[in-house]
Amino acid sequence: MKLSHRITHLTGGGSDGWDVFYRSRQMISDGIDVTELTIGEHDIRTAPSILATMDAAARGGHTGYASVPGIPSLRDQVAARVQERTGVLTTRDNVVITPGGQAALFAAHAAVCDAGDTALYFDPYYATYPGTIRGVGATARAVQARAENAFQPKAADVDAAAEDAVSLLINTPNNPTGVVYSQDTLKEIAEVCRRRDLWLISDEVYDTQVWEGEHISPRALPAMADRTLVVGSMSKSHAMTGSRCGWIVGPQEAVEHLINLSTHTTYGVPGYIQDAAEYALKQGCDLEQEIAAPFRTRRAVAQQILARQNLLGLVPAQGAMYLMLDVRATGMTGEEFANALLDAHRIAVMPGESFGQAATGHIRVALTVDDTKFAAAMEKLCDFAAQCAAMRRTA
Ligand code: PMP
Repeated sequence: MKLSHRITHLTGGGSDGWDVFYRSRQMISDGIDVTELTIGEHDIRTAPSILATMDAAARGGHTGYASVPGIPSLRDQVAARVQERTGVLTTRDNVVITPGGQAALFAAHAAVCDAGDTALYFDPYYATYPGTIRGVGATARAVQARAENAFQPKAADVDAAAEDAVSLLINTPNNPTGVVYSQDTLKEIAEVCRRRDLWLISDEVYDTQVWEGEHISPRALPAMADRTLVVGSMSKSHAMTGSRCGWIVGPQEAVEHLINLSTHTTYGVPGYIQDAAEYALKQGCDLEQEIAAPFRTRRAVAQQILARQNLLGLVPAQGAMYLMLDVRATGMTGEEFANALLDAHRIAVMPGESFGQAATGHIRVALTVDDTKFAAAMEKLCDFAAQCAAMRRTA
């Protein structure tokens, strides 16, 4: 039977740099000890107190259909968090709870793109972005955020690609680069959005993981609240990846339609998960900082180790749970380096090529194993790069 073009063409096809990831997963299932610095998942689990709240809520009967927009008290809690951190007036009417940030990204694009519309996103990009856009029937158009600009996107490049586009998707702190967009970058992008009448979909799932500079939500910039949909999630901030709880914050009219979309797609998020999310958010910044702390430490460890060499270039590591390293001085592509590293040392990293074209010749290192193991892996990675470069010189 014929399947829709939309679903069969969701992903790009061809080699997309994920081979090394699947190879490392295969090695692990074959019993080989691999240090996995690939995907963005904490090495800790959800805090016991959050689980206790979830358990009590489920046992207390919150297991039926929950309110589709999200339970009012969680929507209030998200609104309060956003208002406190951005200064933008936000009420529950600006919030819809979704099953994670990914569902929010899909819903946000469904809300602003008609079939055949063009939606912009930056390359390098989080793996699902183009597929999410194609999933709503829109055309995904990449705008390069270049390595020579330390992966800060340029408003002029957005402008050049904006003809006939309806939206722009951004992500700061950024996966995969670890870059935090500066105030100037965001102001200039916001100006293009206003001038070109674009919706801005702002993926802020790493907003609690900022090591340098500050996280600025573009919804707080002048005249942006009416054209910005902010995607948030409990996954990264509270180590709740498996709970599937996130949200969209945006203009009331958009939220009303998004709630209607939820009625026709997800039918909301389990009540006991929402109760746990509300409890977790009520713990405030202290819990968030506690969860972010190991990444901050490992980033510092990596900086110290990398400072002893000058072969691998570190892209400014300002936020999120990743480091992006420039491996071009080894003479290898990111894909070649990642594959060779896996074979030589059983260390798995993601090639930059798996995040588009702009991060070719780079690798992404996730800060997601314990400190000792992480330091050892970074040492080996640097030594390996030096060996590769030396071999190249004598070849
Ligand atoms: N956006 C970015 C940039 C991500 O890295 C991720 C997860 N890795 C998500 C969204 C989706 O996260 P979740 O659905 O778990 O909230």
